[in-house]
Amino acid sequence: MESYNSFNVARQQILEAARILNLDEATTQLLVEPQREYNFSMHVKMDNGKTKIFKGYRIQYNYARGPAKGGIRFHPDETVDTIRALACWMTWKTAVVDIPLGGGKGGVCCDPKSMSLRELENLSREYIRAVAPLIGVDKDIPAPDVYTNPQTMAWMMDEYETIVNSHQPGVMTDKPTQVGGTEGRRDATARGGVITVREACRLLGVNPKGKFAIQGFGNAGQRAALLHHELLGGGKLIAVSDSRGAIFKPDGFDSKELVMHKLKTGSVMGFTGAKEIKHDELLELDVDVLYPAALENAISKSNAGNIKARIVCELANGPTTPEADLILSANGVHVIPDILASAGGVTVSYFEMVQDKYSFFWDEKTVHERLDSKLTNAYHRVHETVKEKKVHPRLAAMVVGVARVAEACKLRGWV
Ligand code: NAD
Repeated sequence: MESYNSFNVARQQILEAARILNLDEATTQLLVEPQREYNFSMHVKMDNGKTKIFKGYRIQYNYARGPAKGGIRFHPDETVDTIRALACWMTWKTAVVDIPLGGGKGGVCCDPKSMSLRELENLSREYIRAVAPLIGVDKDIPAPDVYTNPQTMAWMMDEYETIVNSHQPGVMTDKPTQVGGTEGRRDATARGGVITVREACRLLGVNPKGKFAIQGFGNAGQRAALLHHELLGGGKLIAVSDSRGAIFKPDGFDSKELVMHKLKTGSVMGFTGAKEIKHDELLELDVDVLYPAALENAISKSNAGNIKARIVCELANGPTTPEADLILSANGVHVIPDILASAGGVTVSYFEMVQDKYSFFWDEKTVHERLDSKLTNAYHRVHETVKEKKVHPRLAAMVVGVARVAEACKLRGWV
């Protein structure tokens, strides 16, 4: 697998969008740098009585369109550049779906798998003590990301409320519903992606009941499998994978049974009647829709030429390298880029903020309808830009996002 500095890739994409939009030098300069970065160290009491020091980050990449929004990762390989890139992509993601938020991201360099629940709670609370002056419902609203979850958000919200001495549920999103979370968040990312696939099938005349494959059968992948049948009225799931391997069933899996098997055994492997295939073979199958829902750089110049899917819906962040994008585009593969395809999660997080502000909560049907409307509009806006600017869909999505953020910066008189 090729290795990339994600932030260099992110900046390159901004420069290309800025060139197409004829942005002036100052605006471009403003957009290729994070507006605010915080690096700090935290001291956390561990179960053995000793104190351990952790490095933490919070980056508010751009807040011209609204408060910064983005997750907090707990990961041993976290670097400031990965957080910068992710904060940067959040800026264009919120702009593409046209919600009044900026982009942000945070992280802690740690190995959560080796920590107890109490140590994770101590670390979560210490993180909030470090960033409390910088975050808030009108400044910066974190959410979960890799190895953080609704429980982490509940601890963090509780610590924040203790510090500011008031009820502020909207300071974090993706909380459990009992403490201000919203209906419809659990499957929002996958639902958003499947909505864009439904629109792409309509537009391109692709059979929505055709074959599909999913790389990465985790949260996003499992929910995409179930929702694909529900929202497209059918479809045959013929291959899935997880970190342990890939399996193939030409007559189609029963998605519900496969999800049950994964929950019971921890892997897709060993599902009755399925054949084992290589990881790369899954990506190269003859399917109508391919969902990469696992890792960065899964589609690279070494395998892009072999992709046969008509539509690639990027539920994962950054699954396609820049060289692979050009190959897919030249081969007529319709890519729904990550900043559009995986924007359902942040869209419903925004709905959660709105509900927390009003202390008035919507039912699941209302959340689904509003998400559908946002993602459908965003998909068609990006597709119009593909035609208008004659660029591939990732660049078109960047052009839509960057143009909206640049306009807000200008209106504010920053440039
Ligand atoms: P997850 O950890 O629940 O699932 C990831 C899955 O990928 C796991 O099943 C894992 O076994 C599998 N995997 C790991 N290495 C693999 C490999 N080499 N080949 C095939 N499968 C492999 O994570 P998730 O929440 O489902 O997120 C998946 C992707 O979607 C990530 O890139 C994430 O950033 C992105 N995303 C998720 C959300 C969300 O709301 N969950 C929102 C936006 C973007």
